[in-house]
Amino acid sequence: MIPITSLEDFKTYKGTQGYFIIADDVNGRKMHSNRCTAVDITHFRTKVLEKEGQHGRYFFTEDFFEAREYPKVKKCELCRKFM
Ligand SMILES: [Zn+2]
Repeated sequence: MIPITSLEDFKTYKGTQGYFIIADDVNGRKMHSNRCTAVDITHFRTKVLEKEGQHGRYFFTEDFFEAREYPKVKKCELCRKFM
């Protein structure tokens, strides 16, 4: 599981076939396809960069099973069809 900490990382992994985990204080822990519209650079910038990761953390993995093993993670309702 790779922590995503910069816009460059975000852009690289958004364009890579795989899975994002977004761990969010408000919405819990969600697993997304890299193609999901909820995997959004504006949200990333707000939650991770401007708030210094206090309100959300992003991870990426190419491994479906590694993503599924993230504690308490749920599949995103928007992008289940891509998984
Ligand atoms: Zn999603």
